[in-house]
Amino acid sequence: MNHQEEITVSCPYCGEQINVLIDCTYNGQEYIEDCQVCCRPITFFVQYDEYNTIQVNTRHENE
Ligand SMILES: [Zn+2]
Repeated sequence: MNHQEEITVSCPYCGEQINVLIDCTYNGQEYIEDCQVCCRPITFFVQYDEYNTIQVNTRHENE
């Protein structure tokens, strides 16, 4: 099943709010997408919590 969800996150580099389409098919997956504003690569970590709510953590690629 292909499940995608659009979420709003703050870019860890420039702080702008951006909308990203997250692929929620697999729990615990990690991938990199460029910020739409500053074009720097953001690492996304996608996880479900105990209520089956999607949690997305972002971080700098090189820190
Ligand atoms: Zn940015």
